[in-house]
Amino acid sequence: MGTESNIKLIDEKGLRIDGRSPEELRPIKIEVDVLNRADGSALIEWGGNKILAAVYGPREAYPKHNQDINKAIVKARYNMEAYSVDERKRPGPDRRSMEISKVLSEALETAIMVEQFPRAQIDVFIEVMQADAGTRIAGLTAASVALAAAGIPMRDFVAGCTAGKVDGQIVLDLCKEEDNFGQADLPIAIMPRSGRIVLLQMDGDLTVEEVEKATGMIMGAIKKIAELQRNALLTKFSAVETEGGE
Ligand code: UDP
Repeated sequence: MGTESNIKLIDEKGLRIDGRSPEELRPIKIEVDVLNRADGSALIEWGGNKILAAVYGPREAYPKHNQDINKAIVKARYNMEAYSVDERKRPGPDRRSMEISKVLSEALETAIMVEQFPRAQIDVFIEVMQADAGTRIAGLTAASVALAAAGIPMRDFVAGCTAGKVDGQIVLDLCKEEDNFGQADLPIAIMPRSGRIVLLQMDGDLTVEEVEKATGMIMGAIKKIAELQRNALLTKFSAVETEGGE
């Protein structure tokens, strides 16, 4: 973010570097329960992002001194594979992945009914296999579906999107070039039914009016994304029901 460049990101017709209009989402596909060993899992393809979310638990928290007698602890681990980006990323945790793991854990903990599982731990692994900007939000969106697939009681889904500023314009769902060479990036995730914000970060500078415009775009997109989450689960579980009934 913020690396000033001479690259033109929006053309004379108002179209973006990948041909999208300012308020157009990249294509999103969600597949449920792609792993046999996990309690719940989901694979999300969001533009050029490919991200796997796997949920294990609730199970007894270990080591025991980590246990909370009042609620389950939620441990999300965001990991970007070395092969997920153009320039090989050094494997293993770094400051960025630790920060993202923390904000995603907190976002998911707000949605999960953690008070129902004292002393337990819920692990959420988020593996970025291919990255093209917006991976924290795409990972969170997949994690929410994986949690639902694991049957973990939740107040609501968590769904999110980013918007940002590119060539001075507010646009929805930044791709990598826009993220790298744009002026600002604003990822937001909410619980769609209540509208409660569970994640909000900002990289770069936006005016109050720009934040309002970006937020409006994000909220519109989240409605569509929540629908995709619901449909992915319905497709999976109605198929299971049909198989069971035969
Ligand atoms: N990125 C990269 N190498 C890194 C970290 C990030 O190439 O070590 C790319 C990757 O495509 C990522 C994008 O930069 O999706 C934007 O990263 P950011 O930290 O803004 O998080 P994200 O938008 O993915 O949530």
